[in-house]
Amino acid sequence: MDDLYREIIIEHYKNPGFRGELNPNDYSFEDENPVCGDHIRVDLRVNSDGQIVDARFSGEGCAISQASADLLIESVIGKNIEEVKSLSKQDVLDLLGIDLGVVRLKCALLPLKVLKAGVYGMGKEIEELDLE
Ligand code: ZN
Repeated sequence: MDDLYREIIIEHYKNPGFRGELNPNDYSFEDENPVCGDHIRVDLRVNSDGQIVDARFSGEGCAISQASADLLIESVIGKNIEEVKSLSKQDVLDLLGIDLGVVRLKCALLPLKVLKAGVYGMGKEIEELDLE
């Protein structure tokens, strides 16, 4: 892993800007990655136009999962729900700026999986997410 990106991940892991919970919230969802023991909850507040006005994540796990959650949450505040639905694996990898192996990829993509499940409400479309 490149040192610069390693530092970014450690920084977001140690000093996340968007860790917390929103009560009340409009969307809340949580899931885990049993391979690594990562657990992520995402809370969203959405206005009547479908725009995300506030978001927070909580949970625990490895540095990659937590840093990915912080970066992802930061990136979706101000976005429309429809834009969030179209976020891809590559968008998350671009935020992290690193190439990851299969195991770490699951860590990195857990926050996106949780976010999308929350946005879709029932989480059924989650199976369409390419996590491999
Ligand atoms: Zn992990």
